[in-house]
Amino acid sequence: MDVGKRAGAWVVISGPGGVGKTTVVRALLRRNPALARSVSATTRAPRTGESEGKDYFFYSRERFERERREEAFLEHAEIAGHWYGTPAAPVERMLAEGRVVLLPIDVQGYANLKRKGRPGVGIFLMAPSEEELRRRLAGRGADPEETERRLRLARKEMEHKDAYDVIVVNRTVEQTVADIEAALRKRRLL
Ligand code: 5GP
Repeated sequence: MDVGKRAGAWVVISGPGGVGKTTVVRALLRRNPALARSVSATTRAPRTGESEGKDYFFYSRERFERERREEAFLEHAEIAGHWYGTPAAPVERMLAEGRVVLLPIDVQGYANLKRKGRPGVGIFLMAPSEEELRRRLAGRGADPEETERRLRLARKEMEHKDAYDVIVVNRTVEQTVADIEAALRKRRLL
């Protein structure tokens, strides 16, 4: 019988840009109030529609450097010339409360967390095909050169997919969310 509080756990959600991580994470949170998410810090500029503290904490390089030196990040990585990091304190607090915390981070961040040896789950989202990914990236308004650069990055990320516990092909948000929920339930995290 399950008595007492469950142990918290982190659930990394990785996948190439354009695969739909943000939409999937939002849908998971909406459907499962028991889940929490980490909000990362980044040195990149906000995109249209993004807000401070909701999508990211937007840091100057100086602030990021300082906090990195102070070991305020659970993990951090440089991606396409910008720094990204998971602020440790809020995640530690949520884990201590026994919550399951979603971390939408890249493959380097996942490798770093795994190295720390804390129990968690890694989920990798794939696009149905490269053509589909190209279409989704182009739909974001990137110029053809930028789209090709992002596709190259996506191919590199996908080389690491086998390091993850679960690989989900994101055909529809509904199916992907159902697949992830099933994977979490199987591990008694939902
Ligand atoms: P974007 O700039 O498109 O929002 O994110 C670029 C990449 O950075 C994505 O793969 C995203 O998952 C990853 N990312 C966002 N926050 C973090 C973080 O805190 N740590 C790591 N390692 N990657 C992150």
